[in-house]
Amino acid sequence: MTAEIAAPLKIALSKGRIFRDTLPLLRQAGVEPLDDPDTSRKLILATSHPLVKFVLIRATDVPTYVQWGAADLGVAGKDVLMEHGGEGLYEPLDLKIARCRMMVAGRPEADISARRLRIATKYVNSARAFFANRGQQVEVIKLYGSMELAPLVGLSEVIVDLVESGNTLRANGLVPLEHMHDISARLVINKASWKMKHASILALVGALREAVGDD
Ligand code: ATP
Ligand code: MG
Repeated sequence: MTAEIAAPLKIALSKGRIFRDTLPLLRQAGVEPLDDPDTSRKLILATSHPLVKFVLIRATDVPTYVQWGAADLGVAGKDVLMEHGGEGLYEPLDLKIARCRMMVAGRPEADISARRLRIATKYVNSARAFFANRGQQVEVIKLYGSMELAPLVGLSEVIVDLVESGNTLRANGLVPLEHMHDISARLVINKASWKMKHASILALVGALREAVGDD
């Protein structure tokens, strides 16, 4: 079903799996990019709908652009949204794409209940919240990538990371120790846009909901 969009809408997307997996859903809603982000250097893409533009943003920056209204809508992983906190955003739809699990992982002999457990992760807020909820004091070390390395060189006992197949963990002699959250990409909406452009956004959300197969 093509969405009846009558107001200009900017949709924040990140390159890579989010873009690739969101595209078929947006196409079903009647919106297609006119350029291929893999070959174009443009950061703002026109679409088949004259009022809709895609804004290409680093995955972790998507909630920030939407929160501040620089984009009306966006698609972000639940992992990214949990770290951001969700301020200024509505999260009306689970797109059920980019699915994986947030897990505690480490060497097979790691003791996840150890006192002052050291955790290396890019997901510091999620890690703190998870262990605080268990009533466990931990030290969280912020990393920006390649978390798997940390337990191998003694930076930390465990990591908190996203796991899809477990192949990267296995290749580095690590195992999943505890499941924290199921992760998937979510549609997020700026709260002011939701009020000001309500009919158009509602139409788009409805068309996307139908494309996801959620009712
Ligand atoms: P960058 O790679 O630019 O540092 P990023 O890792 O956040 O940023 P992507 O790798 O494109 O960007 O991941 C985007 C989103 O896809 C993540 O926020 C997460 O929700 C999801 N994701 C990440 N890794 C996986 C995975 N292995 N399997 C499934 N989904 C994943
Ligand atoms: Mg990545």
